[in-house]
Amino acid sequence: MSNEHQHFATKAIHAGQEPDPTTGAIMTPIYQTSTYVQEWPGKHKGYAYARGKNPTRSALENCIAALENAEFGLCFSSGQGASDAIIKMLRPGDEVIATNDLYGGSYRMFTKIYEPFGIKFHFVNMYDSKNINNFINANTKMLWVETPTNPTMQIIDIKACAAIAKEKNLIFVVDNTFASPYLQNPLDLGADIVMHSVTKYLGGHSDVVMGATCTNNKVYHDQLAFIHNSCGATPGPMDSFLVLRGIKTLHIRMDRHCENGRAIAEYLKSHPKVDKIYWPGFPDHPNHAIAKTQMRDFGGMISFTLKNATVEETFQMASKVKVFSLAESLGGVESLLNHPATMTHASIPKEEREKAGVTDTLIRLSVGIEDISDLIADLKQAIG
Ligand SMILES: *Cc1c(COP(=O)(O)O)cnc(C)c1O
Repeated sequence: MSNEHQHFATKAIHAGQEPDPTTGAIMTPIYQTSTYVQEWPGKHKGYAYARGKNPTRSALENCIAALENAEFGLCFSSGQGASDAIIKMLRPGDEVIATNDLYGGSYRMFTKIYEPFGIKFHFVNMYDSKNINNFINANTKMLWVETPTNPTMQIIDIKACAAIAKEKNLIFVVDNTFASPYLQNPLDLGADIVMHSVTKYLGGHSDVVMGATCTNNKVYHDQLAFIHNSCGATPGPMDSFLVLRGIKTLHIRMDRHCENGRAIAEYLKSHPKVDKIYWPGFPDHPNHAIAKTQMRDFGGMISFTLKNATVEETFQMASKVKVFSLAESLGGVESLLNHPATMTHASIPKEEREKAGVTDTLIRLSVGIEDISDLIADLKQAIG
């Protein structure tokens, strides 16, 4: 069944999935198998060995691709596995221009794993996308953008970046984890490859670690598929099933994440003890106008600082929450509170971190889909 003309909610529930041909089971079976029987040497039904292909995983790959309006999708055993495969498309001597306020694990992989292999990374503030031009030279091969950024919720103009990438012949990658395909579709705005930490909103239930890549470029897809099978960061069928099931409510969950996120951003704004708030939905957010054009809503991620608070006072507030949980990760149904400097962004040196606004008193919230009055009451008792 082609899902090309279906709308998001229908694709979230049906794309990539057919009733099981042998039994009619409406849910895609968990094909818990490592190999497949062949009729004749080399003659099989498209499945030879499960690192290369598994039917549960194929259904999920097709579903995620449909949600990103992509022709091709691949699922990896983690978001980092997906990012790793994308960087393996490069060669020693190549250069990458990446967003400065980047997921800590991506920064660590780029600098600690790939710089020693001779790939050079420039971490650039892309609030004004023209800044990118200052770092382009004959060796530049890839532009890596995360938007909204983590944790300071900068918004980067995907269309403007696509124009630069096209002119300079760069592979343009967007990490779309924070927005999810429900709020933003970078391929439609000119990106070449979309990367996801499926662990977050796509999975949505904090029970799976997984990654994905999506593209409409067959050459890039074939390279990624070759790396995927050769290097082996492929997810198992049980995890694929859990994510297929999680995605069926993605649109409903995202609507509530956005609604609760807005209410909490407004609550924090009204609180006399709260200083800075990072949320792209405020009209005075520096790139609010771009957020409005490239995102359908503003999501459930919010960062903030308390007025004149010491690190100790910030930690006290962070340890008082009861409905929110003090934990890394994001995008699940439950609300989480995170201290980036010691948790998600601890792998970025303090100096680099502070340049990107990730101070020791910054707190990040992943607003879940609980009852909003309980979430606000919890923040109220914690902030005081
Ligand atoms: C979590 C995350 C990743 C890494 O994904 P894993 O599934 O944890 O490997 C990459 N980018 C962003 C924006 C993330 O939040």
